[in-house]
Amino acid sequence: MTMESETEVVEASDAIPRTGDDTLGDGPGRRVTVSSPSETWSIKDSAELYRIDEWGMGFFSISDDGHLVVELDTEKGHSVDLYEVMCGLDDRGISAPVSVGFPDLLKAKMQEMAAAFAAAIDENSYRGEYTAVYPIKVNQHRALVRQVEHLGRRHGFGLEVGSKPELLAVMALTVDHPERLIICNGFKEQRYVDHIMLATKLGRHVVAVVENFSEVELLVKASRAFSVRPRIGVRLKLDAVTTGRWQGSTGDKAKFGLTIPGLLDVVDYLRSEGMLECLELLHCHMGSQLSDIQVINTGLQELARVYVGLAGMGAGLCLIDVGGGLGVDYDGSQTNWDFSTNYSLQEYAATVVYRIMSVCDEAGVAHPTIVTEAGRAMVSHHSVLVTNVLGASQIDRHALTDEEAAAELASGNHPPIVREGFEALLAVGPDRLLESYHDALQARQEALTRFSVGLLDLEQRGLVDRVFWSTCLKVSRLAQTLDPLPEELTELEQKLSDTYVCNLSVFQSLPDSWAIDQVFPIMPLHRLDEEPARRATIADITCDSDGKIDRFIQLEDVATVLPVHDLRDHEPYYLAIFLVGAYQETLGDLHNLFGDTNLVHIRFDEEEGWYVDEVVEGDTVGEVLGYLQYDSRGLFQAIRRDCERSVRAKRLTAAESRALLAAYDSGLTGYTYLE
Ligand code: PLP
Repeated sequence: MTMESETEVVEASDAIPRTGDDTLGDGPGRRVTVSSPSETWSIKDSAELYRIDEWGMGFFSISDDGHLVVELDTEKGHSVDLYEVMCGLDDRGISAPVSVGFPDLLKAKMQEMAAAFAAAIDENSYRGEYTAVYPIKVNQHRALVRQVEHLGRRHGFGLEVGSKPELLAVMALTVDHPERLIICNGFKEQRYVDHIMLATKLGRHVVAVVENFSEVELLVKASRAFSVRPRIGVRLKLDAVTTGRWQGSTGDKAKFGLTIPGLLDVVDYLRSEGMLECLELLHCHMGSQLSDIQVINTGLQELARVYVGLAGMGAGLCLIDVGGGLGVDYDGSQTNWDFSTNYSLQEYAATVVYRIMSVCDEAGVAHPTIVTEAGRAMVSHHSVLVTNVLGASQIDRHALTDEEAAAELASGNHPPIVREGFEALLAVGPDRLLESYHDALQARQEALTRFSVGLLDLEQRGLVDRVFWSTCLKVSRLAQTLDPLPEELTELEQKLSDTYVCNLSVFQSLPDSWAIDQVFPIMPLHRLDEEPARRATIADITCDSDGKIDRFIQLEDVATVLPVHDLRDHEPYYLAIFLVGAYQETLGDLHNLFGDTNLVHIRFDEEEGWYVDEVVEGDTVGEVLGYLQYDSRGLFQAIRRDCERSVRAKRLTAAESRALLAAYDSGLTGYTYLE
């Protein structure tokens, strides 16, 4: 990471209005950075541009007045206008950035999963059952896990934990429903095993999944000490190697699980201890975001073969756990690209059921209960991160028209190298675009060299940049008709794009965008009945040049700019980032001490349209300082003493000291983001 803080920002309030701005002459294309919004633009055009139907799975649409709408229940006609929600939250003092959760979408996803497996079981006459466990590592936020626990009751879904703290939380959450399946994955020592014993004694339906041999020894010993019959699972290190980002989850070098010889050692040991019938579950995890159904098929085949082998050896198996990995189609392309999937939920369910059934039938083994640990697919859709644009940095802000350039050239006031730039700008024509661009690059390079040795003054240097960018804009505009577009000119679109500075921290709220270049659907929440005539990348408010988003979804490949609207005076502009319910905010870090964002849960209301069901306020400045051992009161006292010294030294008046101290104090209890 490189640290940097300098960016030229046009405040949202004084952004130059761009509607109809056409300072660089007429141009044909819509993709150029400066173009006039089309008069005939419709909400349908916006839906197509942002590909809502492709990634939104019917959960999102656009209202006639151009607002993004969340479809909570299409059968009942329940929908919520997200722009109205943001305005309403603002009225309540809940400001962006805010993670807006929709429990109804979570409910719909859980319902879809249950229905897909029910259909597959029915179609195949499968004689076992299906259940899902939600791996809380995917998003451990209490408000969400409580919802999953609550909504999962009707489907009999359970929870998966991967560590002691996760188990302690889940034990308490299931006090009233001890029958729910709890799968315990992750490395285990004595204390983790003790917690499993306690949970079992308390009547919880816990399966302890053994990752290595020492764990099974601990479990057997503890079960004797506490007179508990443990439910034991074993995690298999699959040989079938998966693909994509998480391919390290399988194969010989996988971090978790037992090889076949290791598995056989566990079986021998349990048999020698007279506990082989406690081995109830076989588990594997092929990796997260599995994008290719063929890979899943191969892994399942191997898992099922091992299952029937173990069953034949006398293990008390009744559960087969296929792990997580059910993918999310982030870009809506339905391909086996890392951030897409080439299969549907129905196909996934049918594949899992059929594969397991056919191997069991062949071996004459009873059909087990199928368990999935899909987390990403269950919770991604329910949460939308909304941020407000604080301002924009726009290269064309200083662009010159041809008339202005011609007048400057005619004035004879400029040295030859600056004149060369003007000439390059005026000479741009459809038949010599690449050449004009090269001329401009050359003229600018020479000018920069002269400036560095003192042969150009600062004003001339500023003019050189203006002329250069004006030339690039003109070239880019005319280049839209070229097919194919030369690569150098393709890159120009991003170079000329705006930077929209957004009130968020990528490191806190979208860590996967930074860490693994993941793409998420991003679009404005409103003004969708207007053409978004500008193109922008997004910069966050951390002092880090990595705190940016410059990868956006599009039909093929990844787009480097996002279509956005011009900013208007005194009017907020909201951008929404979708499918962020899994692995984002809870994995984020405190870079620059930007903490958790505000979180709300929104539900449908017949009369008002919607209501706020739950609010979890984001971290205050004092809280994030506290995580790093700063004591807010101590900080305040230190500044109070400093103010007193300054009052004595007459650098501050007593009234100034009081006002500024009050601001310091309320800063400690304020939001970490721009308020
Ligand atoms: N189960 C295990 C053991 C995991 O390690 C993971 C995550 O990597 C999951 C389930 C959840 O995976 P996903 O969210 O991709 O469904």
